[in-house]
Amino acid sequence: MAKQHAIARIRNIGIAAHIDAGKTTVTERVLFYAHTIHRMGTVDDGNTTTDFLPEERERGITIQSAAVSVNWKDAQLNIIDTPGHVDFTAEVERCLRVLDGAVIVFCGHGGVEAQSETVWRQADRYNLARLVFVNKLDRIGAGFDRVVDEIRSRLRGRPLPLSFPNGEGESLKGIVDLVGMKELRFDQTGKTDTVEELALEGELLVEAEARRSAMIEQLADADDELAEAYLEGGGIEPETLKAAIRRATISGKVQPTFCGAALRNIGIQPLMDGIADYLPSPRDIRETRGFRPGTEEVEVRKNYPDQPFSGYIFKTLADAHGEISFMRVYSGTLKEGERVMNIRRERREKIGHLFLPFADDRRRVNEVSAGDIVAAVGLKFSSTGDTLADAEKPIAYELVSFPDPVVSQAIEPRTNADRARLDAVLERLSRSDPTFFTWYDEETGQQIMAGMGELHLEVRRHEIEESGLNVNVGPPRVSYREGLRGSGEADVTVDTPLGGKPQFARVRLRVERFPNDEPGHVVFASELDPELVPGEIAQTIEQVVRDAASGGVLRGDPVINLRATLLETALREEESTPAAFAMATSRAFTEACRAAELVLLEPIMSFEVVCPDEFMGGVLKDLQMRAADVDETAVRDDLRAIKGKVALSRMFEYASVLRSLTQGRGTASLEPAAYGEVSRQDYARLVGE
Ligand code: GDP
Ligand code: MG
Repeated sequence: MAKQHAIARIRNIGIAAHIDAGKTTVTERVLFYAHTIHRMGTVDDGNTTTDFLPEERERGITIQSAAVSVNWKDAQLNIIDTPGHVDFTAEVERCLRVLDGAVIVFCGHGGVEAQSETVWRQADRYNLARLVFVNKLDRIGAGFDRVVDEIRSRLRGRPLPLSFPNGEGESLKGIVDLVGMKELRFDQTGKTDTVEELALEGELLVEAEARRSAMIEQLADADDELAEAYLEGGGIEPETLKAAIRRATISGKVQPTFCGAALRNIGIQPLMDGIADYLPSPRDIRETRGFRPGTEEVEVRKNYPDQPFSGYIFKTLADAHGEISFMRVYSGTLKEGERVMNIRRERREKIGHLFLPFADDRRRVNEVSAGDIVAAVGLKFSSTGDTLADAEKPIAYELVSFPDPVVSQAIEPRTNADRARLDAVLERLSRSDPTFFTWYDEETGQQIMAGMGELHLEVRRHEIEESGLNVNVGPPRVSYREGLRGSGEADVTVDTPLGGKPQFARVRLRVERFPNDEPGHVVFASELDPELVPGEIAQTIEQVVRDAASGGVLRGDPVINLRATLLETALREEESTPAAFAMATSRAFTEACRAAELVLLEPIMSFEVVCPDEFMGGVLKDLQMRAADVDETAVRDDLRAIKGKVALSRMFEYASVLRSLTQGRGTASLEPAAYGEVSRQDYARLVGE
């Protein structure tokens, strides 16, 4: 049952686009031409020869919503669903990390729009090899050359047109292939997948020759080997040309550009050929960088099956039968039933069933290897963002600690009847996204969701609404923390009867600021001889310190980066109960913290704003008003990138402010970086002292 395939045949790709450019239509047509929909249909009808349990059939469909894998000619195209909200960094990052290449779809009418700009820049940042598909050329007013020019001027891309449309708008007949020098016509009814090849003649031939020369010249600039062949003169063989296009695409020097109209079934097969011919396989990527577990030191794995196993879980979905973990295998091989190390949790995980997100009739496999995207079923505790690896050769593909949530928001269903469903959806979202949290706040009686930023919560709310729930949300709130400026001691004796019984306890405690890279860290230590403090009492003291720290002193926000040391206790036979020690510890903690001087901390975000030069002045001025620290401004072609740090509390609704400051052309990313002291005014306002 093992499905062995040469790694060089695999294309792990994403299809990305501005909303409405045609991503869904293009993807559907790709599945159709790879004969996937047809086969899926027969699976659904239940008349396949291989018998699937109903459960497996259902699972196949869930798996397909995250990734599909189709065979096209010699290649296996793994198409991974990319998040629709492109400016949500953590999730996009996770997704881009598992891709080797991408197809960016542009609308032939609308051209380069703000969101396609964001997609393009993110792909730039990850050095992702890409193809361009200019879609909707059947629309009146659409223009292939205009969109190509916009990609050049606005995105600073290097589109390399490999075809051009024959006819425009309603009279679009087909496309001209500049590598094969043929005109291609398609069955526009979509009933068959016939591609008719016609010889070029007349004006069309003249235009094709001119465009081909321009294409070869551009390519010769990007590829030395081709430049030599070109200078030698004579004709260039299609195979030589294709090899050069492939090299230049993988090294990011060009983006082969295709054209068509997905809705009218024009131009899809050449695009699929392009994916197979020009986008890299995992082998072309060669190696993947991660970290040595527990450190930020770089560790590298070669993307070969004979290396130690490593893989990265980039998505988790749940269906009626449990959770499905989507994993990219970076090195080695993995078999059903094997035990591998979950690096973040430092526990061994047993691998259950493995499925290739396969639209073929054999989806279950018993072995996968480097380059594969696989759906694993039945993992016990692994979740999104986790790395699984050979215990002898550990590696982590994402830094192990996830940041604390920095913003929270109350959420409630519009109708009470939906309460249980909302709870279930929130629960599912928090399991599939390690940076999204939900809990019930006893004090206010509200369900809370918390995450990495305003946009993060907005995206999740959209998802909740898309699942058919109507909800109300409260205003987003910054998650504050308390910290200590120095160190402080307290010595508290409790000697009062409680419920008629004498109670006695004495606790001397020191608390101090304890710088640690991991925010939230609370360290407890004792200087006492363990023999002298009964176990039950020692446990009570530590537990009360931890609870008091998470309950806060100033306003109820958790105290972070703190070390508490138990210095001294005194007991009296009979009278020293855990309750007495709890009371003494709790008072000592509060007093010691006050002596150490408490500060209120707020999340500080690192930001990056990218915008065209002309808007830079306005954007900077606005950032100054928000008291941002600008660390760096860099030039990226005619764009400016501004990086720095800013308090999250100053950045609510920034996305819409930036939009209006830059006519929609600026993009921003915000990520939690650290906690910093709030300003004096904010302290007075929030703490009321
Ligand atoms: P997505 O939002 O990027 O997934 O875009 P869709 O595939 O959902 O397409 C958006 C709209 O554009 C739909 O109404 C499609 O029918 C239409 N559309 C997609 N491709 C074409 C095309 O080639 N020509 C025309 N005229 N319309 C198209
Ligand atoms: Mg769509």
